[in-house]
Amino acid sequence: MPLHYEMAQIKAEKKRFEEAVEHYGYCIQHLSVAEDDIMRATILKDAAMSHYALADYNQSLACLLQAETYLKPGKADSLRSSILDWTSVMYTNLGDYVSALDFQHQAMNIRQELGDSLGIASCYYTLGDIYSRQEEIKTAIDYFERSLAIAQRHQDQFLEYTCLASLANFNETIDQLDMCFYYSKQALALANALEYDYGKAYANNTLGNYYLKTGNVDSAELCFDTALELAQDFGDKGEQCVSLVGLANVHKQSRRFRAAEAYLMLALGLAQDHNERLAEIEIYEALAEMNFDRGNYKAAYESLRLKHGLKDSMISEDTRFNLANMQAGYQTEIAVRQLQSEKEAAILANQEQLVQTYKMAIAGGLAFIMIVAWLIYARQRSRRKHFRAMKHRNSIIAQQNETLRAYNEDLEHFTYAISHDLREPLNHVVTMGMLIEENVKRNRYEALTECASIAKKSAERMLTMLTSLLNYARLKDKTEATDAIAMDGVAQEALSNLNGTLEERKGQVEVGELPTIRANKEHMILLLQNLIGNGLKYNDSKSPVIKLSSERHNGHWQFCVEDNGQGIDPKYFGHVFGMFNRVQNNVAVKGSGMGLAMCKKIVERHKGKIWVESEPGHGSKFYFTMPAIAA
Ligand code: ADP
Repeated sequence: MPLHYEMAQIKAEKKRFEEAVEHYGYCIQHLSVAEDDIMRATILKDAAMSHYALADYNQSLACLLQAETYLKPGKADSLRSSILDWTSVMYTNLGDYVSALDFQHQAMNIRQELGDSLGIASCYYTLGDIYSRQEEIKTAIDYFERSLAIAQRHQDQFLEYTCLASLANFNETIDQLDMCFYYSKQALALANALEYDYGKAYANNTLGNYYLKTGNVDSAELCFDTALELAQDFGDKGEQCVSLVGLANVHKQSRRFRAAEAYLMLALGLAQDHNERLAEIEIYEALAEMNFDRGNYKAAYESLRLKHGLKDSMISEDTRFNLANMQAGYQTEIAVRQLQSEKEAAILANQEQLVQTYKMAIAGGLAFIMIVAWLIYARQRSRRKHFRAMKHRNSIIAQQNETLRAYNEDLEHFTYAISHDLREPLNHVVTMGMLIEENVKRNRYEALTECASIAKKSAERMLTMLTSLLNYARLKDKTEATDAIAMDGVAQEALSNLNGTLEERKGQVEVGELPTIRANKEHMILLLQNLIGNGLKYNDSKSPVIKLSSERHNGHWQFCVEDNGQGIDPKYFGHVFGMFNRVQNNVAVKGSGMGLAMCKKIVERHKGKIWVESEPGHGSKFYFTMPAIAA
């Protein structure tokens, strides 16, 4: 590969570009073996120059674009700017001025960063060239002048010449003939000094056009002849064409149409052979003008048609190129937009689906929570209900148990009373019966009366006991009335029942303030009657005094029946409330021993308590409590 590269360079130097491009072609095929990317880019750029020399702008452009790919920004910037510059030149030649301007500005940016003044001058020149091709001649001239100033400052004579030549040419185009002459003369002088044949030819052609416009036909012919000769010498077809068209114009002005036509046909042949399209267009234009001047309108029309056809084909090629680009861009944009809208639609659908799913999930979740909450609530409620029912049942059971316990106690007492307490008088009766029988057998009638009297007393006692037992038993059958009753009224009734005893004993009863309570009235009368009666009964005082009082305590009333009687020994405090239980030293006093038992039963049935406080000889205080009516 290095050998081919060397060969290519030698061939290019010798202007044998066809052979050069062949060697370059080989090198490009084997680029991978090149030393590095800079080398690859250099080979491609050199190849592009040879293609350019052969006017193969497309191939040249392809090489330059490939070369650029090997150079990242910041790497070999000088080479990179040169490649961008030449890329711009190729686009200019291919008529894509937009790309040309873009690449040229890229090149210029790099050169400005590098501080490469001559490079910038070259860029100005190329920009001028691009604008000139777009027929923005004044802008083009401005750039050429800027380039010229830098070239002169840095004494780059070759660039200076190029700028002068272009300035001369374009000033001629816009009929600034003085400027054209001024620049042409300078350009020619510099080309001569540099012995630059192409420059000489170009400057002569410009001067020729200047003379033609100023009517100096002879000078014009001289200039064109000189230029043609020079161009033929170094083989520049473009400049030859310009000289031939110039000569044709000289002959046309002298109305030597045949000669003019001959030059133009010669120029046309050359341009067609070398694919110099711009030259071709100019030649057709000149042919049309000339035929018009000759009055050969048909030929003029034909030339114009060919000219426009060529221009159109160029334009249409460009247009096609641009259209294709635009279409590709447009299609890509449509595809991208479609893709975007599809994507957006998909995202929207997805979001909607997500929202729906969330909604459903939330609704489901809420329903689930509500069901669970309702189930918990229902369960709790049923539990509470069940618990309340159970509590109620338990309290009923407890009450029933309590009642049962009380019944059992009663029953025990009953059993005891019947089996024990009643047995005693019954035994007396039986014993007395046996004694009577024995005495009758032995005819001892005198003792019979006494025995019968004892038997009678025992039987009476038994009767009393049985009556009081029956009364006691009947107590439980009476429903517990819950009417509100005034206890002072109750006390009065009890006192009226005790009227006889009170008179007999000359007793006094002091009734204090008594409350209204909920209780069974009959029971209450019986209770007070028993307690007050006992206070009178077991009282040795000449003037027995009984005090009935009440006191409000927490949630209940505490009643007290106090007497000034004999009192009770504390060892009998519990005993006196039992069935048929009496205190021994009171046997003389009439009683069954059931009075206080009944009192206890009544009080307890009303959920109260009964107790006694006493000291023998100092009277007794019987207390009982009754629930107060809730406020
Ligand atoms: P009874 O009066 O029929 O004997 P109670 O049950 O009423 O039966 O009384 C039991 C015993 O308690 C009495 O026998 C008596 O000894 C004693 N007792 C009751 N009340 C008093 C009182 N106020 N003062 C002294 N002893 C009393």
